[in-house]
Parts: sequence; structure tokens; C-alpha cells
Amino acid sequence: MNTDLQELVRISRLFGSDPSFVIAGGGNTSYKNEEMIWIKASGISLATIDEKGFVSLSREKLKDISQKKYSADPLLRESEVKADLHDAIVSPKELRPSVETSLHDLISYRYVVHTHPTKVNAVMCSNLAETSCREMFDDKALFVPYADPGYILFKVVAEAIRKFTESHGYEPQLIFLENHGVFVGANSTEEIESIYAELMATIEAKLRQQLPGTARSDLKSVIIDRLAGLHPGYTGFSAIGFRSELTDRFLASEESFSKANKSFTPDDIVYCKAHYLYVPAGKNDAELFAVTSEKIGAYSARYGYLPKVIAVQHQGVFGIEESLKSASNVLDVYENILKISFYTENFGGPKFMNDEQIAFIDNWEVENYRRKIGKS
Ligand SMILES: [Zn+2]
Repeated sequence: MNTDLQELVRISRLFGSDPSFVIAGGGNTSYKNEEMIWIKASGISLATIDEKGFVSLSREKLKDISQKKYSADPLLRESEVKADLHDAIVSPKELRPSVETSLHDLISYRYVVHTHPTKVNAVMCSNLAETSCREMFDDKALFVPYADPGYILFKVVAEAIRKFTESHGYEPQLIFLENHGVFVGANSTEEIESIYAELMATIEAKLRQQLPGTARSDLKSVIIDRLAGLHPGYTGFSAIGFRSELTDRFLASEESFSKANKSFTPDDIVYCKAHYLYVPAGKNDAELFAVTSEKIGAYSARYGYLPKVIAVQHQGVFGIEESLKSASNVLDVYENILKISFYTENFGGPKFMNDEQIAFIDNWEVENYRRKIGKS
């Protein structure tokens, strides 16, 4: 393997194994030369990736995608782009390149490390995302307001990079995406590391309060014991739950939970769905069980699917999924939502995705594919 790709593997594992940068399957990395780009394949974990986890694509063919006219229908458009992306693969054809491939290709720096760090998203998922970004990073960074992932985001970022480069005389190395995360580009992996270190230190300097304790205690509950009884749709599913000082803080009341009841980013939806169910404690187990069951029914009638996250007042949070492993992923991603929400108070409070943005992700086949692969 050539040394540039070895470096790509090294930097991918470095960021991928740090949960403050990458949770569950999120984040991706790439290396490019003039002709080709090597990018993490969809469904491969950064923490354990080796050279076989990367797909190489022709940059010439990727450029065609940016110039081509696609269908106006979002689902049709995304499947057309997906076909062209597949067509641009040099090898191996059986892996699927990350849905963010074209974004990586836009950045002309040789290495790109894209992550969704908790503290970056504390800024990106806040009401003051753009102004805070300007205050902290000024001319060093490009801020891009939320756009639907896939082709639309690609077009929006392309135009934003073009404008930034035109007015600044250099290409941005730091690109922040609202309600999503950050792209860092550089010609060496050392520089990627130093940009990230500075970026994290700058944000950390703005965080006034320390995060409540995250040590977890396991939960025993009727919700876990009688899961299928809560709703027949949960038959065969697994549930686990935990409580921590952090969950206590958000679960005290319906009002405190309103700061963590919706998704911040597309990845949140992929793992946890977009809406999180809150249940008051009740007088006893029987009452809790009845109220939870009733609320699940109302939730499913409203959204068309069952909740994956249930928060019970004075107890803790439960993750529900097809296997224990994926239920545990649900809880990790949801805990991250709590952390982000807590930190957003330094930047004007939480700003969730809106209903239209959520609907786009819910309908997106690409994300469904990732979810499936993530479980296997
Ligand atoms: Zn991303």
C-alpha cells in the first residue's frame, strides 16, 4: 500500500476511535490525487478501517456529476446520482462509496476528515450557529446553513466554497455545516490534526458549565421486561436503558425534556428516528406500563413508526431496536443529543431540524441502506 493511503488509514482510525468525534457509524475520510479519490465505504467503521475499507473513484467522472442535470423529484434524483456515483468507482465495485463522496471531491486539499464532534455540533445545532462561528473562527472557516444531504448539500457547498475562495483568495480548510458537523481539509494528516486541535480548543474555551456526570447505571423496568406487551410491533425487539446525572437533568419534566425531544442531525434520525417519547413516572409500574403503551400508540399513529427512544421521568432513557447491539447504538447516539443540547446553552439554546428537513431524511433510501448495513 502506498504511504499516502497508509496515512489515510492512520488518521481515519485516530478520529474514528474517539467517541467525542465519531459515534456509531458517522464520519468519513478521504485522500485524493489528481486523477482519483479514495473514500471510506458506506457501512465501514472508521475505528477499525484498513485499506480494504476505501473505495477509489475517478475524479473526472465525479466532475460530470456536478455538471449534469438531474430529475427534479428528490428520490429519483438521489437514485440517479447514486447510479452515477457507482459508475465512477474504479475499485472495488461491490463497495458503496460514502454518500458524501462528492463533497470530499469538492475540497481540493489532499486529505479530508469529516466528523460530527459533540462540541462542534453544540455550536452547529444552536440558535446562534452562524454568529458564533464567525466570532470564533472569522476568516478561517466557511459556515454553510442546513441543506438536505446528498445532491442539494453538494451543490450548496460547491457554491459556498466558490464564493469564499473568490472573496478570500484561498480555499477554506474548515467547513462547518449547520445541524450536521465539520469538514477539515489539508495536504498532510499532521495539519488535519492541528486544525482539529485548535478548533476543539476554541470551542471548549466558550463552554461555561461542565457537563453533568455521564456515568451510567443500568435500569430495570417493566418497559424492558414486557416490551412486546407495550406494542405488538416490538415483538422480537430488544430494549436496554440507563440513567445518569445527564439524563436526570433532561428527564425531570416535560419542559426540560423539550430541549432533547427531537433530532439535531440527519445521523440522529438514522439511528434514533426524529422524535423521542417522554413518559411521566406514574404512581406504580402498572400505571407506567399503561401510560407508556398508550403514548406509544399515539406516537405511532402520528409518525407512522414506533419510537426507538423512550425517556421515563425519574428513571432514565431506553433504546429499543431489533438487537441489543443496535439498541445500544441508539442509546449512544441519543446520549450525544443530550450532551449537544446541554452545550448549546452557550450558543443561544438548541435548534432542532424542522419538519421538512426531517421528512426528507425519513424518505431517503440511502440512509435506510446505511442503517441496514450498520446493524450487520
Ligand atoms: Zn456527515
